[in-house]
Amino acid sequence: MRLLCLFGHKWNGCKCERCFQKRDEQHDWDLCRGICKSCYKKTIEQHDWHGCTCSRCNKTRNEQHDWHGYKCSRCGKKHDIKDINDLSLLIDIAKSTVNDYTYGREAVKKINDQLALLDIAESAKCSLVCNEAIKHLTDQSLLLKIAKEHNSSLSRGRAISRLADKAVIASIMQNSEDIHNRRDAEERLTDLARIETANCTQGEHAWKYMGYHESDFGYSGGDYECLVCGKKDRRYDNPSF
Ligand SMILES: [Zn+2]
Ligand SMILES: [Zn+2]
Ligand SMILES: [Zn+2]
Ligand SMILES: [Zn+2]
Ligand SMILES: [Zn+2]
Repeated sequence: MRLLCLFGHKWNGCKCERCFQKRDEQHDWDLCRGICKSCYKKTIEQHDWHGCTCSRCNKTRNEQHDWHGYKCSRCGKKHDIKDINDLSLLIDIAKSTVNDYTYGREAVKKINDQLALLDIAESAKCSLVCNEAIKHLTDQSLLLKIAKEHNSSLSRGRAISRLADKAVIASIMQNSEDIHNRRDAEERLTDLARIETANCTQGEHAWKYMGYHESDFGYSGGDYECLVCGKKDRRYDNPSF
């Protein structure tokens, strides 16, 4: 202690300006961090909660959210898809998601309504969500509508690969102005023929090439899936059917 302080400290809050002695009063609390900014004494964290968010430090907590549709307007947290059962909200999510397409696809998976799926397939902002909707469409007349009218060649192709009527597919194969879609139709006819002759219990599957595969050992090959039973296979040579 300095001599001057013998007759009294010069307190500034919790610390003496001359000798730096501390006292347990008049701390300069940073309540959000739970610490005195001057002497670093600790205390309990206390935030200024406005709903889920602290108005001082912006920390968030998982309670008292301010839900607007599927999102909290304060912190941006989204409802868990499994907790959403409102169809129009699910459609909204599917159509509006852009970057968070996993979220949009999860929403699509909960929708069975065929017209809603058509709506999403036609106007979702994200093409991955759009494809998910086509994957879940089973109504053949709606699939045909997409196969003919969708503005994306890829989406038309996806719909073509879900068509079941051979005459309709053959007509697309002959009349489509898009060469990719003519090929899609041809491939679909081949697939249907394979499905007809498959006999999964006898090990005669309707193998379809699903995509390129690179193994850990440097071999490259393909992933295959049976169109009838869904069995998967991985091959490193040219498959002979
Ligand atoms: Zn002092
Ligand atoms: Zn202090
Ligand atoms: Zn805070
Ligand atoms: Zn929130
Ligand atoms: Zn099979």
